[in-house]
Amino acid sequence: MRVLLVEDDQMIGESVSESLADMGYAVDWLKDGDSALAAVSCHQYDLLLLDLGLPRLDGIDVLTKIRKQQKPLPIIILTARDAIEDRISGLDAGADDYLVKPFALGELNARIRAVLRRQSTSAGPQLSNGIISLDPVTREAQVTGKDSIRLSAREFALLQALLVRPGAILSRGEIEEKIYAWGDEVESNAIEFFIHSIRKKFGADIIKNVRGLGWMVAKTN
Ligand code: CA
Repeated sequence: MRVLLVEDDQMIGESVSESLADMGYAVDWLKDGDSALAAVSCHQYDLLLLDLGLPRLDGIDVLTKIRKQQKPLPIIILTARDAIEDRISGLDAGADDYLVKPFALGELNARIRAVLRRQSTSAGPQLSNGIISLDPVTREAQVTGKDSIRLSAREFALLQALLVRPGAILSRGEIEEKIYAWGDEVESNAIEFFIHSIRKKFGADIIKNVRGLGWMVAKTN
């Protein structure tokens, strides 16, 4: 999952981006509203975490402009403006949720999972295609009837990208876009390496090759 964090406070920005990277998200961090708009127009983000008090373009204006472009991007507002009117105007402007600062990172993570859950085809908190299920809280995956196994951050991110839409084929570029942030070093055979290690843990059939196009997990339900 690729997340754009827009936050001009250095300390909050650092702690949020580090915590999300630990959870397996690819996080790009920007500090003003203008660059946020530019980034959203050229990358496929799965989530936007948006501060409201921002230099150059206010968070509410960023939000309004994104929604005018009819982008379905999930947005969570992070704000010190705890007045009830600010929360109402944020939600009315198209935010999916909001969190008032200071917040606990654990709560932020839970809200992110809740917002992303609404985007996926799985009904429960786990992502599943009926063969393998993935728990975003523990970062463990489990093939039905077998023990669950802990994944590395990248393995988790890759399997998550595929399990959000079972049956959909993701190319190498699309997978890289989902699991790497700006500045991450991408080795040329990295995706094959992660797929190999997931298959070693769960069986070769878990991720299917679609020759010349990319990879997918089976759609069974
Ligand atoms: Ca701010």
